[in-house]
Amino acid sequence: MGSLADLHCHSTFSDGRLTPAELVDLAYRNGVRILSLTDHDIVDGLPEAFSAAERYADFTLIPGIEMSTDVPGNEVHILGHFIDWHNPTFLARLRRLQESRLNRARRMVERLVQLGKPISWERVQFFAGEGAVGRPHIALALVEAGHVTSVNEAFSLYLSRNGPAYVTRDRLGPEEVIAVLLEVGGLATLAHPRELLAAGNLESLLAVLKAAGLTGMEVYYKDYLPEEIDTFRDLASRHELIPLGGSDYHGLGGPQQKEPGDIPLPIEPVQKLLALARERGALERARIAHAR
Ligand SMILES: [Zn+2]
Ligand SMILES: [Zn+2]
Repeated sequence: MGSLADLHCHSTFSDGRLTPAELVDLAYRNGVRILSLTDHDIVDGLPEAFSAAERYADFTLIPGIEMSTDVPGNEVHILGHFIDWHNPTFLARLRRLQESRLNRARRMVERLVQLGKPISWERVQFFAGEGAVGRPHIALALVEAGHVTSVNEAFSLYLSRNGPAYVTRDRLGPEEVIAVLLEVGGLATLAHPRELLAAGNLESLLAVLKAAGLTGMEVYYKDYLPEEIDTFRDLASRHELIPLGGSDYHGLGGPQQKEPGDIPLPIEPVQKLLALARERGALERARIAHAR
């Protein structure tokens, strides 16, 4: 049941519950031998993950990130693996993204105050913890303040795209994000494509993103059903993308949660990714298993 590889996991440095070291330990216990830590728009958890990986001789750790991007009407997430995460230009860009995210959240809190639904910025930050502040944390603060009864209600009444407290963000498009990842030697993979398929714009998007340098697409993702996996594998193959996957483990529970490695990701596509990284001289940025 368990896969040897899991290319999509989160830690406390974004919105996960485990520290990077705890995540590495759990993944290893679950039989994962090739792991990528892919926190949202941040690489600050990687040093801890790399030092934890040193405990295990037969363990490969790939530096990663999950970047949020927008297309009209939808959010698109792009995973970057094997990135040169020390690159100063890249780090400066991530800092700017983080600042604009903070400003946006502050403006949404201000709008809620104007709407007569005051919440405090401190509570929003509390719910975000070490992670990047976003709408889910504002929603939790709204629930706590008694303005709504659930996170869903917070979104439907105030925070959804057409909601009165919604503030648009200035984020990069997926092609720009792929360019950013390529600049730092990363291999780009489209994350969890189910929503895009449902919205009907996956085919055209894949063609555009492939031309922009996309390498892979998540096919063996978290709770995808066997027939969905078949659909996405066909799509990946038609667009010459490596069919990858991950548990998207956050450790927050819920019915859809999969443990690290609890996905049917075969080893062959992962080996393809590693071979491509080697070809591009990016393999050295991973911590490679040195056993056997
Ligand atoms: Zn995502
Ligand atoms: Zn994720």
